[in-house]
Amino acid sequence: MRIAMIGTGYVGLVSGVCFSDFGHDVVCVDLDPGKIAMLARGEVPIYEPGLGTVMARNVAAGRLTFSTDLPGAVAGADAVFIAVGTPTRRGDGHADLSYVMAAAEDIARALAGYTVVVTKSTVPVGTNREVRQTIRKTNPAADFDVASNPEFLREGAAIEDFMRPDRVIVGVQNDRAAEVMAEVYRPLFLRDFPIVTTDLESAEMIKYAANAFLATKITFINEIARLCERVGADVKQVSKGMGLDGRIGNKFLHAGPGYGGSCFPKDTQALARMGQDAAVPMQITETVIKVNDETKRRMVDKITSLCGGNVNGKTLAVLGVTFKPNTDDMREAPALTIVPALLGAGARVRVVDPQGRPEGEALLPGVAWVDDPYKAAQNADALVILTEWNEFRALDLKRLARRMATPRMADLRNIYSLKDAKQAGITGYTAVGRRDLEA
Ligand code: NAD
Repeated sequence: MRIAMIGTGYVGLVSGVCFSDFGHDVVCVDLDPGKIAMLARGEVPIYEPGLGTVMARNVAAGRLTFSTDLPGAVAGADAVFIAVGTPTRRGDGHADLSYVMAAAEDIARALAGYTVVVTKSTVPVGTNREVRQTIRKTNPAADFDVASNPEFLREGAAIEDFMRPDRVIVGVQNDRAAEVMAEVYRPLFLRDFPIVTTDLESAEMIKYAANAFLATKITFINEIARLCERVGADVKQVSKGMGLDGRIGNKFLHAGPGYGGSCFPKDTQALARMGQDAAVPMQITETVIKVNDETKRRMVDKITSLCGGNVNGKTLAVLGVTFKPNTDDMREAPALTIVPALLGAGARVRVVDPQGRPEGEALLPGVAWVDDPYKAAQNADALVILTEWNEFRALDLKRLARRMATPRMADLRNIYSLKDAKQAGITGYTAVGRRDLEA
């Protein structure tokens, strides 16, 4: 198969690289000439474990190229994937489809021979039909079908998720398009990964329903954590006890500072908006959005009370600012709410993050970037763990405590315990949904 990938971001690049690893001929296209130039030099513009190796292997095999020439890539393709961004539209919570529709028009003008135009971006129900109409209007003679193929990869584990997916969802309107999609995913089909074929609307809905469900699960445990703090239970023990129930499962059941990232915040917003437009309010999702916002703000209160009720003039060492470990993605990271609030209250903030700095520098003005947790802790008044990078899981707490002006820790990912803290001489410890040690 010859594949054109339109949009070479987190999803487009990983998908393009993995499709080429399946043996297809792939051209990855992007509007951003800087990104394409980097890729052409063999450099990977994002941090994603393992991506560089698979990319290099397929470039060397001649199956993977990068280009800004959309018409050239589309004209030669059997399947064209749209993998551009669908951020929240300013003001109304809708998914902004302007990038998708602009790509659809550009694709329409370049179509040559039968082509399946596949939307991989997360798009509201009805968008694939709109894409079809746009293409039809722009190029009435084009021989094409549309397909919906939402992506479920997780940043930080994207290659594994793409190569060994729980399922692949393919929404189509006819067998002709289904056959092309079956060819595209043949290597997965042969290895018995479930390929679920649906209509266009159901495929679009599956993606939103799945993300909203996961966001709900996280938010549910965060709310339980808050109650645990009040009534003296330990959310880690509660999660374990709940998660062993096969009907519930232990994933996405870790209390923390609230969900963030490039998907959950915008997809829950878009689903809520879809519900409002259809006069079927998504009441659970709307509450999840609200509780998640409160959860992030609650973390600021936690840090403040750890510091005796006021962070003004205090030095805080923040470990981790990306929305989760193993990515450099800062989109909607809880840190973007929490750190500015602390700065606004007069704190001095030092930040350590293994990959977050290139993205984070512009987003977190006023912080000092440090490359090591022990340096960050020097004379600090409190240490705040915001992202559970592996590098932060086995810190020498005694060494940290000795360096700090006051040994206090806000462990907002629950990676240590009250016992660990006490043993290390940390006199103030707060976690999420667990008992605290008074400062
Ligand atoms: P991104 O912002 O990282 O990448 C989008 C890329 O598209 C950018 O490089 C941009 O320059 C390019 N682009 C925009 N318009 C273009 C055009 N007309 N022609 C060529 N290139 C164009 O976005 P992302 O995180 O990869 O997300 C893409 C889509 O996939 C979104 O709808 C998102 O919801 C969905 N998704 C993302 C993830 C994730 O983990 N990031 C997971 C599943 C689904």
